[in-house]
Amino acid sequence: MVVSGTEKPWLALYPSGVDEDVEAEYATLVEAWISRLSRQPDAPALAYFDRQYSVRETDAMAEALASALAERGVGRGDHVGVYLQNIPQYALVLLALWKLGAAALILNPMYRGEELRRLIVDAEAVGIICEDDGIEAATDATAGTTVRWVISTSARDLQSRDDARVFGEHPQRPEPAPGGDLLTLVEEHRGRTVPPLDLTSEDVALLTYTSGTTGPPKGAMNSHGAVLHVATSYARWTDLRSGDVVFAIAPLFHITGAVVNATMALVHDTLLVFAHRFRAEVVLDAFAEYQVTTTVGSITAFNALAEVPGSSREHFASLRALYSGGAPIPPATVRRFVDRFGVYIHNVYGMTETSSAVIGVPLGAEAPVHEPSGTLSIGVPLPGLTARIIDAEGQPLPPGEQGELELTGPQLMTGYWRKPDVTEQTMPGGRLRTGDVAIMDEQGWVYLVDRLKDQINVSGYKVWPREVEDALYEHPAVLEAAVVGRPDEYQGESVVAYVSLAAGQSVEPATLRSFVKERLAAYKVPRDVHVVAGLPKTATGKIRRNVLRDRTDA
Ligand code: AMP
Repeated sequence: MVVSGTEKPWLALYPSGVDEDVEAEYATLVEAWISRLSRQPDAPALAYFDRQYSVRETDAMAEALASALAERGVGRGDHVGVYLQNIPQYALVLLALWKLGAAALILNPMYRGEELRRLIVDAEAVGIICEDDGIEAATDATAGTTVRWVISTSARDLQSRDDARVFGEHPQRPEPAPGGDLLTLVEEHRGRTVPPLDLTSEDVALLTYTSGTTGPPKGAMNSHGAVLHVATSYARWTDLRSGDVVFAIAPLFHITGAVVNATMALVHDTLLVFAHRFRAEVVLDAFAEYQVTTTVGSITAFNALAEVPGSSREHFASLRALYSGGAPIPPATVRRFVDRFGVYIHNVYGMTETSSAVIGVPLGAEAPVHEPSGTLSIGVPLPGLTARIIDAEGQPLPPGEQGELELTGPQLMTGYWRKPDVTEQTMPGGRLRTGDVAIMDEQGWVYLVDRLKDQINVSGYKVWPREVEDALYEHPAVLEAAVVGRPDEYQGESVVAYVSLAAGQSVEPATLRSFVKERLAAYKVPRDVHVVAGLPKTATGKIRRNVLRDRTDA
């Protein structure tokens, strides 16, 4: 019998041309970028509505910005808050910070007040780069902290189309932040350079805070080496080619968008397309206009694209690699997408702590479904990663058995910023305890069952919410579903479902209960089904079961 982890059975599933590990061609992201600059300076690197910027022009702007930031005292090891939507300035800021040896503290531009301040304080950020509409929030949240300056930029810059769907909300351009306007600084410093540094693969490139808003904030340190490894291995996995067009669909303030949309595109010979924050109609237009070949986003984003009236096969015709990560994919959604648009949504798994994508469905393969639970596989470990399923004592379990997913490899974070104890608990001996319950089959396909804490206990019977949600997704009227446990005097907990409906559909809760009853054991059938207008989600599209759980506790 093969014990998972003692061998790598998944290697047999690798697409041809993908090796067990990726050779480290460069030590740092800066080296990889400079190599691209020398390879094809005139190729387009960034696109934003009607404008494109070559590799040379992008580098010139990034170098000028680096020089402006150096004047403000930014240096190696510093943390600078990047509080922006998906706009081309994001790429300029990342490159400028990396040239200085500083790390980008990526911040959700929707955060306000205390949720923003706690991250800035924990990270000891020295400055913040925000959008016009975030100036007030950034200035307020940084008062009395280590932040010395706030620089702002306008989402209207670097394009001239002024699409009303995107910019209609902000017709006026406010005064820049006290630290100045980013592109004015670029113009003032044009032609100036910063001295090259002797960075290593261990220098921190990104400081990314985990999604939780309770408990002390935890900032994962994603090194140049780790980010470069993921950007390279994921590019091989998805057959990224010179001249490909990558659309930044996932938010860049989350690890997935930052690494496998933005950084991957920057360090390869590809065009990176931005369209500000996610608006389904605008995204579909950009797919068609730029003939996008590859993107990764959340399943919520793909659901929203499918809901746009008039969305068609033509919008998706150029896509060669479509991946969805960060949250479970109901098998029914994948089938619907293939039927309607002719493209297959490949599942991919990653965490802030793994510098994003580390387990994925090989391009062109279809993820198998785990028959007993109906779960769609998240794929197989990408080059360099070792995945094991372990029991409560940390011992590896045989194929087919359920346990905690444990990961090792060059993709892992160095640790949490200034939290050696939590780092040791999460990564004992350098092995990452993901907290995800998973099964690996004989071939190496991994199935995520659920988060340990989401399991519902009905009179001692264990119910995984995913299984009930997947059954609900089978119903054609259901757009999204979330299942949680509610405290129950007699059963310990009972199953409660929340669903939102596809446009123009209606269905009675009782019909949905009977629908699930036909498919699952009686104890798994939701006691209550609430039809709601929309489900609460994180900014990255994960459905927030915890919010619903709190609602059912009340
Ligand atoms: P974050 O650090 O915010 O990216 O969240 C990481 C968590 O998202 C993982 O531990 C999983 O619980 C979940 N996750 C990521 N990718 C997937 C996926 N493809 N399917 C299901 N859950 C996922």
